[in-house]
Amino acid sequence: MAEPVEIAKYNLTREQEKKDLLRQYRSLLRALKPKLKPGDKELVRTAFEMAAEAHKTMRRKSGEPYITHPLAVAMICVEEIGLGVRSSICALLHDTVEDTDVTLEDVEREFGTEIARIIDGLTKIANVVDANTTQQAENFKKILLTLTDDPRVILIKLADRLHNMRTLDSMKHEKQLKISSETVYVYAPLAHRMGLYNIKTEMEDLSMKYLEPEEYKEIAQKLAETKRERTRFINEFIRPIKDKLEQGNFNFEIHGRPKSIHSIWNKIKKKGVSFEEVYDLFAIRIILDSPPEKEKEDCWKVYSMITDEYNPSPERLRDWLSNPKSNGYEALHTTVMGPQGRWVEVQIRSKRMNEIAEKGLAAHWKYKEGAGEEGRFEQWFQQIREALNNQDSNSLDFLQDFKTSFLAEEIYVYTPKGDVKMLPLGATALDFAFSVHSMVGSKCIGAKVNHKLVPISHKLRSGDQIEIITSAKQKPNENWLNIVVTAKAKSKIKDALKEEKRKIADEGKYLLQRKLEQLGVSFNQHNIEELVVFYKLPSPLDFYYKIAVKEIDLKELKEFQVLGDKIIPPKPVKPLVEHKDEESLKAGNKKDAELIIFGESSDRIVYNLAACCKPIPGDDVFGFVTTGKGLTIHRTNCPNAAKLLANYGHRVVKTKWVKNKEISFLTGIKIVGLDDVGVVSKITNLISGELRININAITIEAKEGLFEGNIKLYVHDKEELDKLVNRLKSLPGIESVDRYDTEAA
Ligand code: MN
Repeated sequence: MAEPVEIAKYNLTREQEKKDLLRQYRSLLRALKPKLKPGDKELVRTAFEMAAEAHKTMRRKSGEPYITHPLAVAMICVEEIGLGVRSSICALLHDTVEDTDVTLEDVEREFGTEIARIIDGLTKIANVVDANTTQQAENFKKILLTLTDDPRVILIKLADRLHNMRTLDSMKHEKQLKISSETVYVYAPLAHRMGLYNIKTEMEDLSMKYLEPEEYKEIAQKLAETKRERTRFINEFIRPIKDKLEQGNFNFEIHGRPKSIHSIWNKIKKKGVSFEEVYDLFAIRIILDSPPEKEKEDCWKVYSMITDEYNPSPERLRDWLSNPKSNGYEALHTTVMGPQGRWVEVQIRSKRMNEIAEKGLAAHWKYKEGAGEEGRFEQWFQQIREALNNQDSNSLDFLQDFKTSFLAEEIYVYTPKGDVKMLPLGATALDFAFSVHSMVGSKCIGAKVNHKLVPISHKLRSGDQIEIITSAKQKPNENWLNIVVTAKAKSKIKDALKEEKRKIADEGKYLLQRKLEQLGVSFNQHNIEELVVFYKLPSPLDFYYKIAVKEIDLKELKEFQVLGDKIIPPKPVKPLVEHKDEESLKAGNKKDAELIIFGESSDRIVYNLAACCKPIPGDDVFGFVTTGKGLTIHRTNCPNAAKLLANYGHRVVKTKWVKNKEISFLTGIKIVGLDDVGVVSKITNLISGELRININAITIEAKEGLFEGNIKLYVHDKEELDKLVNRLKSLPGIESVDRYDTEAA
């Protein structure tokens, strides 16, 4: 009798699912309501039905019907990005062409070319992103290429990624790591660049939850614990300002917003402080309801009221009213000294500015009539198009260049005539020269910044006025690549260097031609290829170049055999022991039983412990297949992890430690405390006496009443290390005990 009951239950859940789906669909329509034009409702319905039908047999990893995902993505597009009807239709259909029988032609027939083009863009991104062999950097380039068509493709893709991050719990651990790394490495910066601050923040926090689970939990918990005290402080801070604003007849909202867990954690890491010492756990935000012609003036009035009440820190005034960021962000930020001697950041903006800050690009479009600022976005897209056109740079370089030049914070500087130029933070005088014109860049020998002479490598600051000094004799050299940060300057310098190399190589080519003639063989493709292979060079150009600069001596060719018209190089002698074997032997000699590699046979596998993060048993780790050295084990919170996982996900192997008390691993800890007589012996007694842990090296430096000790020691696993760290922390006078993160620390 069990069977009918099962079926009944199944039908019941089916019914419930249907109801849930309809509810979700109706709330999407409700959200779209103010934007619906005649006929739109029917189109949205058609899209929903088409997608639901196409995905009807599919389920998500969580067990839910697949269609819940496109519905949620559409909802994010409308509510959180401010997109409209057409984007919602695209969001509903975004996975159909990729994963179901629906074709692009079907979409075009039903919804027209505009929507079909966006779906095509989304499908193309999906195609490359999912392919195992393709690097994330290449994917990223593809994503950006779609920018040149329609920015909505990127915005919908960001919504898609955000929903996947929100539902990442049901995925496998490796998948969680890979997707989180990609998100924090590529999508969060992109969201930032599009001005989607809320989405950027949520992406970072969610990624951190998977990549740094312990730190995440710790900060989240501390935030919760300190919430009441914080609310009290915020209320105390706000009260006098509120009174003044009310007296001034402003329409406003004011509230304290906690900073994101990710940004608090960044501060803790960067400044080396504890949670308790991060002073700006929150920011006060004042949103004014002012008409467009008065908003700037009102923001400054409010600034003046606040600084009458609290003293501002002059270096921390940020005026993005007069010079908005190129992602459209406008606001006035200041940091003032609040009650109890605590610094508080205050952000002042109008309702319009706030909407741009939260919804980015889409809101920007909405306001663009009359705002006169749309040029900045256009400029940005134009620069990306230029960088993309430079096809031969490899993808990883491209991603790096892109990140430094388009995603970094910006500074604005002036030409001698007073025109403003936006450059990424860290840009040099040489970057500026190339931004003026590539000819100015390649002839640049120096600059005058605010009338003072500086070298080409001089780093610029916001507000600088720059005059470039050129010389006809100047030409770019290799070192210039280290001086510039903008993609434009990099690619122009590379072009110039390549041109230069080609000229030099021409001489080498001529020398080779003559040499081959002497030997009585012809200068043909076959012979050149033989020689290029023999010298292990990437191209004939490199071969000619090395001849020209005398790195290759053509006299050697005399030793080669000549057979008819062919030159036959001697067979290269294989080295007896290859370097990589030596390396892996060294790492493998620590008996390799303490590591299990899932998905492979349980055979012992030779591996290396990464020097950058020095993992020990018990750490959360992953294996990375390196080209030369076999498997390298990194900690998941290794500084290089995000980059490796994001770019080479296909080379990542899931790994886990097995408990083993026989083998010890070298690790390091840093202890800071009050310099007290006998402190060293207290520490060493604890480590080697009480806990019987072997010390490899110890250095103690004392300075102004404090000491800093660096101890290298052998531990069996993380448990033992954690115990040691906790015991050390409880010694009197000890400030902090931290594990080394890197070799350099
Ligand atoms: Mn999707």
